[in-house]
Amino acid sequence: MKKKLQIHSENILPIIKKWLYSNKDIFIRELVSNSCDAISKLLVLQDLENIEIGSDRLAITININKEKKTITITDNGIGMTGDEVEQYIAQIAFSGAEEFVKKYNTNKEKDQFIGHFGLGFYSAFMVSKLVEIETLSYKEDSKPAHWLCDGSSDYELNEGTRTTRGTEITLHIEDEEYLNPIKIRSILDTYCSFLQHPIYLSDDQINDVEPLWIKPASECKDQEYIDFYHKLYPLEPNPIFWIHLNVDHPFNLKGILYFPKITPRFDFQTSMIKLFTNRVFVSDHCQDLFPNFLTILRGAIDTPDVPLNVSRSYLQTDSTVHKLAAHITKKISDRLTTLYNNERELFISYWKDIETIIKLGILHDEKFYERAKLFLIWKNTQDQWLTIEEYIEKHKENYNDKIFYTIQDSEHSHFLNLYKDKNVEVIYGSGPLDTATFNYLENKLGVNFQRIDGGIDDLILDKNREKTLLDIDGKTEASNIAAFIKSRLNKEHIEVEAKSLTSETLPAFVMIDERLRRMRDYLSMTQKEMPNELLGKHTLVVNTNNPLISAIIKLKNKDVDLASDLVNQIYDLSLLSQKELHPDSLPLFIQRSSTVLQKLAAHISE
Ligand code: ADP
Repeated sequence: MKKKLQIHSENILPIIKKWLYSNKDIFIRELVSNSCDAISKLLVLQDLENIEIGSDRLAITININKEKKTITITDNGIGMTGDEVEQYIAQIAFSGAEEFVKKYNTNKEKDQFIGHFGLGFYSAFMVSKLVEIETLSYKEDSKPAHWLCDGSSDYELNEGTRTTRGTEITLHIEDEEYLNPIKIRSILDTYCSFLQHPIYLSDDQINDVEPLWIKPASECKDQEYIDFYHKLYPLEPNPIFWIHLNVDHPFNLKGILYFPKITPRFDFQTSMIKLFTNRVFVSDHCQDLFPNFLTILRGAIDTPDVPLNVSRSYLQTDSTVHKLAAHITKKISDRLTTLYNNERELFISYWKDIETIIKLGILHDEKFYERAKLFLIWKNTQDQWLTIEEYIEKHKENYNDKIFYTIQDSEHSHFLNLYKDKNVEVIYGSGPLDTATFNYLENKLGVNFQRIDGGIDDLILDKNREKTLLDIDGKTEASNIAAFIKSRLNKEHIEVEAKSLTSETLPAFVMIDERLRRMRDYLSMTQKEMPNELLGKHTLVVNTNNPLISAIIKLKNKDVDLASDLVNQIYDLSLLSQKELHPDSLPLFIQRSSTVLQKLAAHISE
C-alpha cells in the first residue's frame, strides 16, 4: 500500500541528509543500537509476560552484499507489527524530524541532536537511496510487515515475508565506501564494541558483551585491565595503573580510568577518555565532562545519565555533569591516598608517571590540592620521599620555613656537597611544572622554596673562618677580596661576594636570584624574550676558604695578569658547570685555558 509520510515539509529527507553529513558513520550506531534495544525489550518481556523466545541465540547480524549493494542489519528482538512500523517509523520519527529541522537549522553540531528527535532510524538515509524493513512482531498471531521508502516523503507499507520474530533492515547503499567490510568493521569497533548483545559482521563477533567495567573490581585481574586498555588504545604502551569506578548514587556511573604512561610524544591536549551511555560509544572528546587535568587520563566511562547525543553546550551547563566530574576527581584522589598509605613502594614506583597529572590537578583545582597534599611527594638527597609539610615540620627550628631544592641529575652536584656535608636536607625538583607547583605552595603555606644556587644560606657558611679583619679604611678582608675579583672580572652587571663556605673544595659558584630565575624559566617556556639586563644578572660567590682563591689573592701583587686570567677562568668554570656559559663565550674560555696553563707551566719550570 502506498502512503505519504506524515509530515508537512515535503523534502525533509534531503535536508537531513545534507545536514548530517558531518558524521555519516553513525547510521550504524543508530541501527545497531535499535536492534540491541529490541533484544533487550524482548528479555524484559520474557520476564514480565512469560513469553516464549525460543532457543536461538539472541543476536544482531550485519551482512554486506557488494553485488546487490546492500547492507542488512538483522535482529531477533521484539520486531514490529505493521501498525507499529506506521507509528514508530513513519509518524513519530517524522514529527521529530520536523522539529529538528525547525530548531537546529543554524546549529553546527547537528549530528549530536539526532537521537533527541527519534531520528536515529532516519540516519540510514544519509548513505542509502532506499531503505526496507522486513519485520515480525513477537506478539502472537501478528503478521509480518514490509516497509519501503526511497527517501522521499512517500513510503510503502505491505504485508511482509518474514517468518521468524525480529527485524531485518536492508539499506540500498548509495555511498559505496560503506560497502567495504573494513570500513563497516571499523565503525562497529568504534561505536558498538561493548553493546550487551552479540553483534556479528558476517560470521565474526565484533563486540565484547561483558566490557570489563561491568565486572566487579574484585573479580578483575591485572592482565584483564591491561588487555582492556589495549582494546581501547591498541597503540599505547601499558598503562601505569587504573581506577575502577562503580557509582550508584547520586548518579549511575561505571568505568575504568587509567593513568597512561607519559612518553615524550604524549599528547596532553586531547582528551581520549571514551564516553559510553548504556555501552554505546558516544564520544572520546569529553573535555567538558572532566576537569581539565584529568583529560590526560585514558579509559572508559559508561553512564546512562548523560544522553547519547550529547552536545558540548549541554555538558557545560548540566549540573549532573559537574557532580560527575567532582565525584570522579574525588575517587581518583581517594584511590591515590589509599595506595600511598598502604603500598608506598608501589606508589613511589608510579610517581614518575603520575606526578604530572597530580601537579596539574593541584594547580587547577583547590579541592584536589587538599586531598593530594597527602601524597604530593619529593625525593630528598638521602633518597627518601616526603611531603612538603613533613619537610617543614622536620626543619621548623633550623630552616626558617625554607625548602632547599636542586634539580635531579643536575648541574648543581659540585656544590650540592656543601649541603650534603652539613646534612642539610635538599629535595629534587623536576622542571617547569615544579616551579609552578612551588609558587603555588609558597602562596598556600607561606614557605619559601630556594634552589641551592638561588641564595647563600647561613647553613652553608662557616662563621668562625669569616674574613672579618678590617683594613685601615675600615673594609673587611672579605670585601677587599670581592672588590679585587670584581675589578678583574670587569663586568658591570655581575656582583661578587666573598663568603666563608663550610667546604674548602668549591672555589666559587654563580648565584642567580630565585625570583629572577623563575621568571627567566617561565619566559623561556613561553618563548618570550627576557630583557638583557635581567638575563645576565647574577652574583659570583667566591669561597674565601678555598686554596685557589687564596692563591689568586696572593698572586695579585706578583702577576696581576695571571691573577686576572684565573679569576675569569673560575668565573667561566662556574658558569660552565651550572650550564650557564653562553656558547659564544666558549672560544674565549678555551683560548684563555691554554694561556693560563702555559703561564702556570712556565712559572713552575722557572
Ligand atoms: P529512537 O531509537 O530514538 O526511539 P528511531 O528512529 O531510531 O528512534 O526508532 C524509532 C522506533 O522504532 C524505536 O523507538 C523502536 O520502537 C522502533 N524500532 C526501530 N528499530 C527497531 C528494531 N530493530 N526492532 C524493533 N523496533 C525498532
